[in-house]
Amino acid sequence: MKEIIDSLVNVEAEERYIREKGILKEHGIRVSHQRLMVLDYLVNNMKHPTADDIYKDLKSKDPILSQATVYNTLNLFVENNIVSELDFNESRKRYDFYNKHHSHFICVDCGDILDLNVDIDNLKLDELEGYSINSVDITIRGECPTCLSKKDK
Ligand SMILES: [Zn+2]
Ligand SMILES: [Zn+2]
Repeated sequence: MKEIIDSLVNVEAEERYIREKGILKEHGIRVSHQRLMVLDYLVNNMKHPTADDIYKDLKSKDPILSQATVYNTLNLFVENNIVSELDFNESRKRYDFYNKHHSHFICVDCGDILDLNVDIDNLKLDELEGYSINSVDITIRGECPTCLSKKDK
């Protein structure tokens, strides 16, 4: 999935739209201007935006966009596993196009979120011998180097 994102981010807008249309069609989703706009936003924004972030940013480009459309589109993408919905116990959920399973680091100062590739298959979980596991969510919280360097001064 990471490779797909890299390849999408680095192509010109026109070509990217063609591929994004392909993603929607692949999932049997009717292509609309607004769905494409939300998908393109998520492809280009790796900062794990909330639905409100997405709405505010896109509203400036498309004044007739409604909040309901953004929410419905996000739900549709989540249902179809195109994006993942992240719940970090904040008041709002966040959205991530990079939907291969991955973990996150969250900076408690600036709120920046970093994608981590934790080797979940090789975690040592002796206590869970004989259990079946449905999902693993690893979120590491701390301070990022930028915030740490500000504190030193
Ligand atoms: Zn930070
Ligand atoms: Zn992520």
